[in-house]
Amino acid sequence: MKKTIYALAIIATALGCKTSQSTISEKEPVLATLDLVNVKDDKVMVTVDPGKINTETIIFYIPKTVPGTYSTSNYGAYAEDLKAYDYKGDELPVTVYDENSWGISNATRLDKVTYWMNDTFDVSGEGGIYSMAGTNINEGKNFLLNLHGFVGYFNDLTEEPYQLEIIRANDLYAGSAFDLAQSSEIKPGVTKDIFRASRYFEVTDNPIMYAAPDTVSFKVDQMDVLLHVYSPTKKFNAQDFKPGMEKMITAQKDFLGEIDNTNKYAILLYLSATPGDGDAARFGALEHHTSTVVVMPEEMEKESLDESLKDIVSHEFFHILTPLGVHSKEVHYFDYNDPQMSRHLWLYEGVTEYFANLFQVKQGLISNQDFYDRIQEKIAISQRFDDSMSFTEMSRNILEDEYKDSYYNVYQKGALIGMALDIRLRELSNGEMGLLDLMKQLTAMYGKDKPFEDEELFPVITELTYPEIGEFLNTYVSGTTPIPYNQFFTRVGLEMRQGQVAVDYFLKDPSTPFITVNENGEIVLRDDVELSTFFKELDLMGGDVIKSVNGKTYNVQNVYDLIGDAAKWSVGDPVEFVVERGGDEELKIEGKVVEPMSTGKRLVEIMNPNGEQMELRHSWLKS
Ligand SMILES: [Zn+2]
Repeated sequence: MKKTIYALAIIATALGCKTSQSTISEKEPVLATLDLVNVKDDKVMVTVDPGKINTETIIFYIPKTVPGTYSTSNYGAYAEDLKAYDYKGDELPVTVYDENSWGISNATRLDKVTYWMNDTFDVSGEGGIYSMAGTNINEGKNFLLNLHGFVGYFNDLTEEPYQLEIIRANDLYAGSAFDLAQSSEIKPGVTKDIFRASRYFEVTDNPIMYAAPDTVSFKVDQMDVLLHVYSPTKKFNAQDFKPGMEKMITAQKDFLGEIDNTNKYAILLYLSATPGDGDAARFGALEHHTSTVVVMPEEMEKESLDESLKDIVSHEFFHILTPLGVHSKEVHYFDYNDPQMSRHLWLYEGVTEYFANLFQVKQGLISNQDFYDRIQEKIAISQRFDDSMSFTEMSRNILEDEYKDSYYNVYQKGALIGMALDIRLRELSNGEMGLLDLMKQLTAMYGKDKPFEDEELFPVITELTYPEIGEFLNTYVSGTTPIPYNQFFTRVGLEMRQGQVAVDYFLKDPSTPFITVNENGEIVLRDDVELSTFFKELDLMGGDVIKSVNGKTYNVQNVYDLIGDAAKWSVGDPVEFVVERGGDEELKIEGKVVEPMSTGKRLVEIMNPNGEQMELRHSWLKS
């Protein structure tokens, strides 16, 4: 059991997608400049020069939402003092339309717009923006440039080429998958970096993290992987994570086989030192076509951080399959200020998440039972959502209030749809064809530059596979019938068995901790969950306030340490709790660590599977 309490904070992963790299035209580019040297009141001056404008009015936008977050972010709200200048340097009239758009009159005379951009990490609650899609300005130390949070666009000019110029101190390094076109010292200590993009989307698809150089790179087949780390207290460095990342991405490339969607990949890891206190507090990652931004708490232990990164980054990396390689028009022509959502989140997020688990068992990184435990956990979490909701309807309306809370379920039930579809495909093809094979066919048919029509996908998949697969999709994905998981499990010789299951010391499962926090910030044993054998053996009780364990004081500030410290215990070790019971009485409780067990259901292999079940299971998990 290697789950971390971070799951409690819902490790949200998200997708972002679009085509990249068409040839950069000869046209005069839109010029965007960020000045990271002259930071004022924690704000960065941004200048956007569109070149010659031929219309009398023009609208300047900063994104309201970006691909993959499935939420409204209003990045324009972080822009201050927006001004438009003509070629003589005089101001032009600007009308504020809303938080994210500005109308500019006499636009034929427009030279440029300028504004001061604030960052999101140190705003209260980060303005509701997921940290991995957010921005950081920490003068001289760190600039996390999710560029959709800095650079805006003019209507009708999103498909024009962009030139991005970044003025920075010499000692900051640009970690990014973006190709640095040019870099030169413009005055002592100050360098200008130039990046070129074929269209606005490419600007937003290439986040850059400026920080002191702390990078490692390695090659997997023909692909260059860059890992750039910002660890504010220097607790970690990039080298720490290289073995884990290299092992994982090598296994992923192995799993993917001939699919080869990118020859470079950048992992930008931002570690938050003081989550929620002026620093990022929403952990997870956002994917891009050739990179991912990952935000995690710096206080985590190396081992659990490695473990979390494995799950998070593998998910993001598999997004090169979908939506990068296979996506609909809604994704391809993403509208940053009036987004239309595709109905196929089950594919973009669900199948991606499924593969991020499947490859681990196929490549021998986890055991069969580990894989079953993850599947079962996804079933348990997904059943807290409406199981009869049409997944395609939900997906299409994910930005609407009625559906937006279902977002987390795309990683749960979405992955389970992928699993059931995989088993069904294997069954119908006598083990020959699985979901990855289907994805390869779809990649060959579409690819990153050719989107499909949202409504044509199910008929196309049916055509490529079996009529029964069409039925599956119409019944369980667009339809409202819950998936009868047990039927699928029977086919591969698995069953849900009730009994005593192993749990973590402080977590029954990632979404059911045994502990909570009271209004004083103290850690309390829950009284609404049956405690594990570990607590029962020690005679601890629901409602007990945990003051210290083995002499170390714990509270909300270092609750993660408690999880991390407990992960180092072994059965038989002496353990000592000091708890407060019933308000005033403090008790010292001494005993020994026992294997924590709790009642629950567990997905396990049946005792005597028949040949058919064995073969199907083998083709599903091992072939
Ligand atoms: Zn994702």
